[in-house]
Amino acid sequence: METMHPDVEKVLFSEEDIANMVKRLGAQISEDYKGKDLVLIAVLRGAVVFMGDLMRAIDTDLAIDFMAVSSYGNGTKSSGTVRIIKDLDIDIKDRDVLIVEDILDSGLTLKYLMANLVSRGPASLEVCTFLWKDVEGKQAAIDPKYVGTHCPDEFVVGYGLDYAEHYRNLPYVGILKPEVYA
Ligand code: 5GP
Ligand code: MG
Ligand code: MG
Repeated sequence: METMHPDVEKVLFSEEDIANMVKRLGAQISEDYKGKDLVLIAVLRGAVVFMGDLMRAIDTDLAIDFMAVSSYGNGTKSSGTVRIIKDLDIDIKDRDVLIVEDILDSGLTLKYLMANLVSRGPASLEVCTFLWKDVEGKQAAIDPKYVGTHCPDEFVVGYGLDYAEHYRNLPYVGILKPEVYA
């Protein structure tokens, strides 16, 4: 039983839930990419925790790299136009690229990023997202191949996900008490 942070109202996915998801995804990815030239690309900073766990659950040879992007717009909603703050260090031409994301909401950020990566000529390009706000009536701009779990359409924190750069270190995913935003 983990101790809850005092700002957290409710835990949606426990450390154990997450460990099971990561194990399942790792086994699937290991099988699908056996013998391939796999490159995991995580989008900073939210996907760092998931990346660290996922890469250790994959038992086929792989490389990792990171990108940082910033959304243009008012900040609360994804605008779909992103600026690359940190680009890849490695060449992905003819390699099997898997983008590792923390959470997929509108998918506009990833759609933009994928178009950019496709222009570099990877052998394949897929997405593995830890959470997907795949709720009724909402459609993501991209279709992830691997999903840790579906998530309610609420603002979640923990396991890499922040609110104003806080809570990324929580080992579980939860929602914050309303007074935290006040
Ligand atoms: P999208 O372009 O898919 O609408 O936006 C996805 C990005 O928005 C995620 O990578 C994440 O950085 C941020 N985001 C979306 N929903 C949440 C949420 O519930 N909690 C947190 N902390 N970030 C979120
Ligand atoms: Mg992200
Ligand atoms: Mg954030």
